[in-house]
Amino acid sequence: MPIVNLSSMLKTAQQAGYGIGSFSPRNVYLIEYVLRGALAKASPVIVQISANEFNWFKVSAKEFAESFYKIAGDYNIPITLHLDHTKNIDIIKDAIEAGFNSVMIDASEKSFEENIKITKEVVEYAHAKGVEVEAELGRIGATDKIETENDEELYTVPQEALEFVEKTKVDALAISIGTAHGIYKVKDPKIDYERLKQIRNLIDTPLVLHGGSGLPAQTVLNAIKIAGGGVSKINIATDLEQAFLKALGLNNRLTNQEILSMDKDILYKAGLEVQKTVEEKIELYLGSKEKAGDFQR
Ligand SMILES: [Zn+2]
Repeated sequence: MPIVNLSSMLKTAQQAGYGIGSFSPRNVYLIEYVLRGALAKASPVIVQISANEFNWFKVSAKEFAESFYKIAGDYNIPITLHLDHTKNIDIIKDAIEAGFNSVMIDASEKSFEENIKITKEVVEYAHAKGVEVEAELGRIGATDKIETENDEELYTVPQEALEFVEKTKVDALAISIGTAHGIYKVKDPKIDYERLKQIRNLIDTPLVLHGGSGLPAQTVLNAIKIAGGGVSKINIATDLEQAFLKALGLNNRLTNQEILSMDKDILYKAGLEVQKTVEEKIELYLGSKEKAGDFQR
């Protein structure tokens, strides 16, 4: 099975100056097309889904993980199955039980001290089971409430990031530097690169950029290529869903079950559009093309 730990994947990418896409298929059908896109570009890849997505698309952690493991072994590239934004420890436990390789605890709306306390508990629980943890410090805004209902934006304070990773021993840290979840209302969202540099100067922990959909390629590449390694995990969900719905000629989201009951030929064509989007992101935004070999043991 080509499963690689989140932190070893991200540290390798961080040192080599590329990013790894953490793609959300949002339903079990599209898992295959995310993996096909990564394989076509010989790129490492992270497949993720969040607690809100389990609710919106009516799919369970168990069902998602089973669909993932049914096919992941057929793809000879480094892969990780990751649980995105989750606030509830019971959902995290379910996902770990189901075989997720890493999980995100999002206690970013709590106070700094509470965030440390909650994250630390999750890290201790998960590490004991061989599972790695991403946490969030600062608040990443949202135009779309599908990943998180936070719509307040609060930039990460570099000195707090240092204290946070030292106290929690978290494996990856999502930072707020100007990106947002969902569709951007402005054409050219600004990233606070100075803040990113300050954070990197203080900590070695892999950094995660949320809200990677809709950003100009150069904006993402600039955030990846900071001296010492910028962000190395880039979350992309909205762009995949947009490509999928456009190909289906639909405006509204469909649940996992609704998708699985659709005509197979129509679904296949829409799946290929998602694959194409994944390939474009890998080639133009992430620079992870042909990097699968970095992880061969
Ligand atoms: Zn996010």
